[in-house]
Amino acid sequence: MPELPEVESVIRGLRDDLIGRQLLGLECHWERTLQNCSPATFDERIQGRVVSKLSRRGKYIVIHTDQSALVIHLRMTGRLYLARAGEKLAADRWLRVSFLLDDGWQLRFSDLRKFGRIALVDDLPSHFAHLGPEPLSEDFDLKGWKRICKARKKSIKTLLLDQRIVAGIGNIYADEACFLAGINPARPANSLTDAEVSRLHRSIRDVLQYAIQYEGSSFQWYRKPDGSGGNLQEHFYVFNRANECCRSCTKAIVKIRHHGRGTHFCPHCQPI
Ligand SMILES: [Zn+2]
Repeated sequence: MPELPEVESVIRGLRDDLIGRQLLGLECHWERTLQNCSPATFDERIQGRVVSKLSRRGKYIVIHTDQSALVIHLRMTGRLYLARAGEKLAADRWLRVSFLLDDGWQLRFSDLRKFGRIALVDDLPSHFAHLGPEPLSEDFDLKGWKRICKARKKSIKTLLLDQRIVAGIGNIYADEACFLAGINPARPANSLTDAEVSRLHRSIRDVLQYAIQYEGSSFQWYRKPDGSGGNLQEHFYVFNRANECCRSCTKAIVKIRHHGRGTHFCPHCQPI
């Protein structure tokens, strides 16, 4: 599933082409992709709206207009890209919704597995009320993070994946951040020392920041709007590298199932 860096890269790939465009309506090929309105209502409510801004909250893409905002979650296989009206692209095989733009282009949403969702939202703060702080913002402060870790017996990996605790991290960057901090992902959060909690706080920001620079990881489905992939998968420390050599100590990376999620770590650099 695309995580914060992938979602951010999708937004960066669309921003210049979408800001200032007027929406003329939509064509819907799979109703359930539209989360909170019927296709007819959605179409009616976006007609004539002008895109003013694109932003991200956790793993959500937000396309702001002069009235409501479109809030998009890619889930497993969602892709957003631009195409000229009438133009056929490979990803159109799973086309679910097309937004028609005033310059003859379309913003298309393709989604093989059909889990992706697009909502029309008037009140963004309450729509996102369930989400924890943005890890790259000042809201994700070390003091608060320490308090959270001290109070939880759950594993640190479980905590990192909980969008209510911190928004935007998924399986890839949870494993990578734990490696960078030298912390075994299965350890109870409240067993971490102050130094470890600080190191992990720093690692979370570092891994997300350089993942954005690499435009995300494309080892699976994720593609940028221009159809090309990100590049971080070539540089993973532990994720998707079971039995390969640790880049730090050369011991073999281990993959376990932890609460149902594939979890990767180096047993030497990240002891239990
Ligand atoms: Zn190692």
